[in-house]
Amino acid sequence: MKTSVIGFPRIGRNRELKFASEKYFAGKISEAELLLTGRMQREFNLKTQKNAGIDFISSNDFSFYDNVLDTAFLFNAVPQRYKDLGLSTIDTYFAAARGYQGDKGNVKALAMKKWFNTNYHYIVPEIDDDTKIELVGTKPLDEFTEAKALGVDTKVALIGPFTFLKLARFTGKKSAEDFSSVLTTEYIKLINKLASSGASVIEFDEPYLVRDLNEKDITLFETIYKQILSGKGVLQIFLQTYFGDIRDIYKNVVSLDFDAIGIDFVEGRKSLELVKANGFPKGKILIAGVVNGKNIWKNNYGKTKKILDDLSSIVSEDALVVGTSCSLLHVPYTLESETKLPASYKAHFAFAEEKLIELSEIASSDSAAFAKNAELFANRPDVLDRAVKERVSGIREEDYTRLPVFEEREKIQKQLLGLPLFPTTTIGSFPQTEDVRRYRKDFKNGEISEAQYVAFNEEKIRACIKKQEEIGLDVLVHGEYERNDMVEYFGEHLSGYVFTEKAWVLSYGTRCVKPPIIWGDVSRKEPITVRWSVFAKSCTDKPVKGMLSGPVTILNWSFPREDISLLESTLQIALAIRDEVLDLEKNGIGIIQIDEAALREKLPLRKSDWYSEYLDWAIPAFRLVHSGVKPETQIHTHMCYSEFTDIIPAIDSMDADVITFEASRSDLLILDALKENNFKTEVGPGVYDIHSPRVPSVDEIVGQLKKIREKTEDSKLWINPDCGLKTRGEAETNAGLKNLVAAAKIIREEK
Ligand code: GLN
Ligand code: ZN
Repeated sequence: MKTSVIGFPRIGRNRELKFASEKYFAGKISEAELLLTGRMQREFNLKTQKNAGIDFISSNDFSFYDNVLDTAFLFNAVPQRYKDLGLSTIDTYFAAARGYQGDKGNVKALAMKKWFNTNYHYIVPEIDDDTKIELVGTKPLDEFTEAKALGVDTKVALIGPFTFLKLARFTGKKSAEDFSSVLTTEYIKLINKLASSGASVIEFDEPYLVRDLNEKDITLFETIYKQILSGKGVLQIFLQTYFGDIRDIYKNVVSLDFDAIGIDFVEGRKSLELVKANGFPKGKILIAGVVNGKNIWKNNYGKTKKILDDLSSIVSEDALVVGTSCSLLHVPYTLESETKLPASYKAHFAFAEEKLIELSEIASSDSAAFAKNAELFANRPDVLDRAVKERVSGIREEDYTRLPVFEEREKIQKQLLGLPLFPTTTIGSFPQTEDVRRYRKDFKNGEISEAQYVAFNEEKIRACIKKQEEIGLDVLVHGEYERNDMVEYFGEHLSGYVFTEKAWVLSYGTRCVKPPIIWGDVSRKEPITVRWSVFAKSCTDKPVKGMLSGPVTILNWSFPREDISLLESTLQIALAIRDEVLDLEKNGIGIIQIDEAALREKLPLRKSDWYSEYLDWAIPAFRLVHSGVKPETQIHTHMCYSEFTDIIPAIDSMDADVITFEASRSDLLILDALKENNFKTEVGPGVYDIHSPRVPSVDEIVGQLKKIREKTEDSKLWINPDCGLKTRGEAETNAGLKNLVAAAKIIREEK
């Protein structure tokens, strides 16, 4: 069998592209130097894949910022305001990606959104009625030709026109349908140019096909591809899908004249069923995405072989290609960079480079490799923790319910806490200044003693509390100085996690994240945050809010295990955090916030899966964390996106007492939806956008609050920024919070 890879990470084994780009943004290197780094990165990727014996290697999977933005620039779907800056091509591109502020003007960046259900973010193309779609770029041609000169005959990977149109934002009257014909024509021009440059295979990536599709979508897709496929000549056209199955369009897709169809058998729950039930046309290639492009565990060859055997009874063996389930962009480069992980752990992981070996071994049915793989899975040196397993299976139905009910708790808490109307608070973190990061690092590296580190942190906390008192906030926080990241910090303090040194994964642009790995059963060794919260409380008479990360977020921002269910993992984490909640309560912390910043983000791509595949266990897991507290203890939660208009009942049934969320940039539509749904939880819609260094004025916040009050009961309204302040500077934070408190005073007095 042959092998195929959809895409390879591009940031660089040692994040070379990140550092070069950031130097270029800072004006420290020239455009030519940046381009050279890009070229070297591409060359490295091509050679790595070629040396691993991969048959179908992509070109054009590289990007200096984002492939969707590349596609927009390729076809001239670039808003005029960026062109008007009069910058070079690459700087116009970066202006659209990152915004521009300088002597040529001041424009905000295009919007950024999550790429399907990954932690990668793409730039949303903006198309208005005057946009003239036209092939103006040469990137795919250049990268194909460059690869060829390096001796690698690639398939040219393009984001398909259907997905591109579905992801674009149409700001005028026209819609996707109005642009589909001209866009198709321009894609065909590109295909012809590629063909004359010697390309023989073009891969259209159409991940949008795994979403819920309606008749109109299907018609749009068919119209586009009938036209593209009718003139393909000797070129081979591959259709590549990923992130799920294509149940709504499978039959249509297989009856079109594609030469190959790539299907995801990892996340595509129904993929195998679809192929079995509907068959697969003779003469076409099926690229079976069986090597997981999103997780870092070794492939279980035995299981994979079963899928391939099933498929080969339907598709002839020479028409079956072994592929990745999606681009390898979503996993780190290589285990070779991990010098601290013991070999016994590494044996169980496969990053991008190791996944190439897996593809070859699976494709060649290498019996020695299969035997070794089987042995590995038979002898997984798990840190199985029987106590954890027993605890999870001992969870009772009533453990998911907090009593008394919300309305009663609300009364008790209002009386006990005695907070003013419109209480003010923050989301938890305060600016992570240079000294904070330095102390944490020095402590980690053993350069300062624990006593020194603790003394430093306590000093920070004391000052932070004092500042908050001066500003006049009502519910104070300790500032989260001890945390690098809201998930890594908890991971480091829980058993069952392992950490990497260089396992970076691209999140957006040049920003990478390093998710911890859930290796074994998760449990809490000892209290994690209690000492800091208790110290903070000792510095003030005002209420101090304890700060925790929630189980769903901790899971979603880690590499999860594949040998147990996400539910089981989440419950293990939930029990660990539950212990922390109860310890905080026992130590006199009467308000506890459990952040679920990433809860919204893993909502399944198909609406029909939202509850059964996710919310039905994620929400109870959250409740399990706080159901054991006393009625007096006020539970807060925080979510980073206000885009939960369509799952409001689920959010309400998290049964927190207060929820804060981002609302300062959105249009407050969420508040209408809350009202319509009789949302019971008290709310703090963020009135201060902490993602920008801009300080909102008192008037602005008062204005915002006026609008909010039209839609929210006064007795349920909290006033707070829209997220943690850790990325902000101290001066702007103080100014912003002062204005926020002043605005609260004004509206209280108006009452
Ligand atoms: N408590 C965290 C903080 O304030 C929340 C971070 C987040 O929502 N991403 O930083
Ligand atoms: Zn947030």
